[in-house]
Amino acid sequence: MNAPAHGLNRFLAQAKPSATYRVMDRVAMRRAAGAQVISLCAGEPDFDTPAHICEAGIAAIRAGHTRYTQVAGLRDLREAVAAKFKQDNGLAVDWRRNTLVCSGGKQVIFNALAATLNEGDEVIVPAPYWVSYPEIVQLCGGKAVAVPCTAQTGFKLSADALEAAITARSRCLILNSPSNPTGAVYSRAELQALAEVLLDHPQVLVIADDIYEHLVFDGIAFHTIAQVEPRLRDRVLTMNGVSKAYAMTGWRIGFCTGPAWLIEAMEKLQGQQTSGACSISQHAALAALTGPQDFVRSARAVFQRRRDVVVEMLNQAPGLQCGVPQGAFYAFASCEALIGKTTRAGTLLRSDEDLVNALLDEAGVAAVHGSAFGMGPYIRVAYALDDAALRQAGEAIAQFCRTLSN
Ligand code: PLP
Repeated sequence: MNAPAHGLNRFLAQAKPSATYRVMDRVAMRRAAGAQVISLCAGEPDFDTPAHICEAGIAAIRAGHTRYTQVAGLRDLREAVAAKFKQDNGLAVDWRRNTLVCSGGKQVIFNALAATLNEGDEVIVPAPYWVSYPEIVQLCGGKAVAVPCTAQTGFKLSADALEAAITARSRCLILNSPSNPTGAVYSRAELQALAEVLLDHPQVLVIADDIYEHLVFDGIAFHTIAQVEPRLRDRVLTMNGVSKAYAMTGWRIGFCTGPAWLIEAMEKLQGQQTSGACSISQHAALAALTGPQDFVRSARAVFQRRRDVVVEMLNQAPGLQCGVPQGAFYAFASCEALIGKTTRAGTLLRSDEDLVNALLDEAGVAAVHGSAFGMGPYIRVAYALDDAALRQAGEAIAQFCRTLSN
């Protein structure tokens, strides 16, 4: 039922529902109508949560860990989070002052922005961006300032572009490496260059979204800005979670480290909001962080192999052009050469959104249009699928592209 617009919060009324969920709804509708669809839309690993992690969740239920936990998270889990940030990222973290556990990585970002933004504050969001950033900023009363980062800079924000984007109203910068949707990974030098700019603008906070940290390929080292520039640590929130690294998207556990003033504010907010993350999921997340890590390594190897398959198949489709992403499980391909063409069924492709709709309807392959991520004409392909399905999708995409006419 539609509520009258005047009955809604004005920030919510202006926010858009997630574009990726919209595409997934279309996929569900096509499937319900009997169509075969290969979905390259999913933002989650296709693996099951490793057994020892599931067992920890089950054991938590059996042991009666079914009550409220501390708002900021179980002490054991926060200690494990602190140890993770120290070991993987070289961050000196006091679990009590500098860590917080939330119901998913998304809630970490939401809490951080809700805790710090005042109406009209600007948040710099390098584009292409994860679809939720501008909407969360909007929901928190802020103004997302998208800064286009083209293929020429590897879809990464340069120091000059950052400097040009900062105004007196800038309150926050969101950095995401490896990136959803492009798979771009910032090097230490690139982060250092951004940090140099930020040092001159003390009012700007940074949210480092490292949720894909463990999915970095080709032996490339992962870096995060708080580690690269310790002088920024009193205004960087480094966030992460178990969703992508341990195939735990449904368990809804994210975590972060940051300065005590910010963690305290986020905890205060969370105390009036969820009262803390699910107790059972926290026990499972503890097993994920402290147990064997071979799943993380093998998932990385599988995704790297699939990355190679997908990039090759996209580049074989006439009119698509795709660079080699260094992380996450997304490829971001330019479809500029296809705009203006007509499909076999007679659809004129005016935009990347027309293209993904036609791909779904006519070739049975679902992808997400780049413009949903703030940069078109592109398509984002998620390769969280087995090799056979990926190859089948590749053939269907290539065939679709071959039959387009001018
Ligand atoms: N950050 C990015 C860049 C993501 O792609 C996602 C999920 O798609 C998240 C954060 C949120 O992760 P979670 O499922 O832990 O909320």
